[in-house]
Amino acid sequence: MIVKKKNQSQNQNINRDGKPYHGSKIIVFDLDDTLVITDAKIKVCDKKSGECFSLTPEEFNEYESNPNHELDFDDFKSLEIMKAGKLIEYYLKILKEAYRNKLAVGIVTARDDQNMVYRWLLEHVGFKIDKDLIFAVNDPNQGFNGTISDRKKEAFIRFMGLGYKDFQFYDDDTDNLRLVKSIESEYDGITISTIKAIKGFSV
Ligand SMILES: [Mg+2]
Repeated sequence: MIVKKKNQSQNQNINRDGKPYHGSKIIVFDLDDTLVITDAKIKVCDKKSGECFSLTPEEFNEYESNPNHELDFDDFKSLEIMKAGKLIEYYLKILKEAYRNKLAVGIVTARDDQNMVYRWLLEHVGFKIDKDLIFAVNDPNQGFNGTISDRKKEAFIRFMGLGYKDFQFYDDDTDNLRLVKSIESEYDGITISTIKAIKGFSV
């Protein structure tokens, strides 16, 4: 549990034993439409009419939930679909620079498999991001509840539990950014810059 307290700059010097990165600053990225564009789609079927359609993650951000709809996220379980995705170089470059400068790098994604995200980053993108800095907020093993935005906010509170206080967060979804940003006014000594990722920066 984080206790509200005044900003204490000595926390900038947190030593993280055995890690290449230290300190209380972390750069955090969403995955879909922030670091990668894939062909993975959410399949939606209406139980009443039997009608089905697909949504891209971007469209899903705007999707209004409907109790008659059944959602299928199976495409997002496929490492192959993820590997076939197009990396968004602009944000990947920011990740690379943070990594090179020995800053902590974290991932907060709506995906449901922390291990797959870890493997994709390691084997396909070429970065070893510590598993304790990867939150796949729909992974049942990670124990999040609520809407995607609620879960993402909770992930940041968990980062705070690891001693992080200074955040840069890249996500293409405005609701996620807004909710995560709200932490700043709820806890003292926390700085969060939120940056809306633009898909078009993939070239
Ligand atoms: Mg996204």
